[in-house]
Amino acid sequence: AFVWRTCWKKAEPAASHLKSPRPRCEAHTRTQHTTHQRPRLSGGSSLRKRAREGGKMLSSSTAPSLRLHHHQPARPRRRPPAPAAYRQFQSPAAASRRHLPAGAAVRARGATIRAIDAAQPFDYESRAAGLLEERQRLKIAIVGFGNFGQFLARTFARQGHTLLAHSRSDHSSLAASLGAAYFQDPHDLCECHPDVVLLATSILSAEAVLRSLPLHRLRRSTLFVDVLSVKEFPKNLLLTSLPEGFDILCTHPMFGPESARDGWDGLPFVFDRVRVGDSPARRARANAFLNIFEREGCRMVEMCCAEHDAHAAETQFLTHTVGRMLATLELSSTPINTKGYETLLRLVDNTCSDSFDLYNGLFMYNKNSTDLLNRLESAMDSVKKRLFDGLHEVLRKQLFEGKASPPNTATTGHHADVHRRQLLLEGKPPSPSVPTPNNVTVPNLYFCQE
Ligand code: NAP
Repeated sequence: AFVWRTCWKKAEPAASHLKSPRPRCEAHTRTQHTTHQRPRLSGGSSLRKRAREGGKMLSSSTAPSLRLHHHQPARPRRRPPAPAAYRQFQSPAAASRRHLPAGAAVRARGATIRAIDAAQPFDYESRAAGLLEERQRLKIAIVGFGNFGQFLARTFARQGHTLLAHSRSDHSSLAASLGAAYFQDPHDLCECHPDVVLLATSILSAEAVLRSLPLHRLRRSTLFVDVLSVKEFPKNLLLTSLPEGFDILCTHPMFGPESARDGWDGLPFVFDRVRVGDSPARRARANAFLNIFEREGCRMVEMCCAEHDAHAAETQFLTHTVGRMLATLELSSTPINTKGYETLLRLVDNTCSDSFDLYNGLFMYNKNSTDLLNRLESAMDSVKKRLFDGLHEVLRKQLFEGKASPPNTATTGHHADVHRRQLLLEGKPPSPSVPTPNNVTVPNLYFCQE
């Protein structure tokens, strides 16, 4: 900047020795007068010479090339326009006010600056940061634009990624509201050559949806990411269905639209780099995708798919199962809700807001789920058994130690009481249909277990 200004100042006095009135530049006169009114002087070469003599710092490339005119009225001096290298930092509005197309040589007051060899950009750091940011931007195609696909899209859009979407149903207006291009036809989607194809369809439909994609229309090294809530199944599906050149990243954001309503900060994000090509660009692309979740504050957990499924059955499937069981009880809020009860109500809300397909997928496509369901059932039985064993003890005491209150013959009858005594003497439980002395009906299940 210093050199450029110095050159400009030195060039003007060099021209000012010419006959008065002061010579003006071509650009200046063109706006003020018609050219046939005045004779012209071509002063470019002599000016350059004088400028060289006057100011040693002026190189031939930076010397102004001037065409001078006589008899021009004095005009208030205007600041010369900034050199092209600086113009990139001007606002587009400022640039258009000056009618300076980007990259064009600067011409004003008769000076055409052909090259700027001294002015250097001064903000390497911010430019480098901008470039890095630019490289982190991805073109992401979301396949399966349902509840969860849309939920993810909101954050992707906020972070400035380019979004494409495809689904079975027509979600075009919602996609438009998120700034995503919506494609009903998967061929059109693939022809856009996304960097990342994100599989966010239901677990049950994943295989059919993947097979419906025209993979040959994608770039040969496209990155495929899935967000299915089970991991071994999509890993094997992607490994067997995709061409060798495609990268595969299996992920599971362990949260959803309900549980992450207030943000993703601190929530677990599980990922497994199943296949990422050994080139800096491909590694950078996978990292750029993971960085989306890192930037939101997720707790990043790198874990193999098999380990994920073992843990997920114990945590996620169990949570969903309990939530679904409670939902069948049709619980409702009461005037005396405890904190614990309110937690149960929230659990029902959180789990039942997801589709049944999702829950079904957790069961069907995680081999650990059946075992969990069996364990849950036997846990329920063992809790019940403990309760009824206690009840059995009380009954025995009442019957054998004579502490029993007189049986209510109106409800049980003498014969029933005799029958129960007989059974207990034989070491058998009383009949399931017979009420206990305290009028507690013992369920059949307990007696079947015995
Ligand atoms: P979902 O019921 O599991 O999936 C709905 C999506 O699957 C919709 O895009 C739907 O398309 C598509 N789909 C369903 N059946 C289809 C079929 N027969 N053919 C083609 N597409 C079909 O609900 P979701 O909550 O949006 O979950 C999507 C994926 O994200 C699932 O794999 C789930 O495991 C995973 N995930 C969900 C959560 C969550 O909290 N919800 C969290 C982590 C991971 P249309 O919309 O076009 O009908």
